[in-house]
Amino acid sequence: MTTSYAEIAADSEALAFLLDPALDIHGAHVPAGPCGWCDDTDAVATVRVYGQPRADVFRPVELVECCARCANTVTDRAVAERATDTPIVVEVSRG
Ligand SMILES: [Zn+2]
Repeated sequence: MTTSYAEIAADSEALAFLLDPALDIHGAHVPAGPCGWCDDTDAVATVRVYGQPRADVFRPVELVECCARCANTVTDRAVAERATDTPIVVEVSRG
């Protein structure tokens, strides 16, 4: 029996965003730096989210580099704030 990547990802709450159809996910080089979302100084940014917020959103997600633990929260916000139904572009570090 084989396990699909989708099943593996669905098992992992932290990786749930990988299955969000509202996201357009690519592998990319995300330079190692601090998470731009949480206060955890040990958190390393591995995900980059390009928001497309409506003009009326207060402090929207525009370009956020965040750690894997924050990715679900940041992508959920970006989807909720988006101006159109265009998928939110997300880059995930290849390591
Ligand atoms: Zn974080």
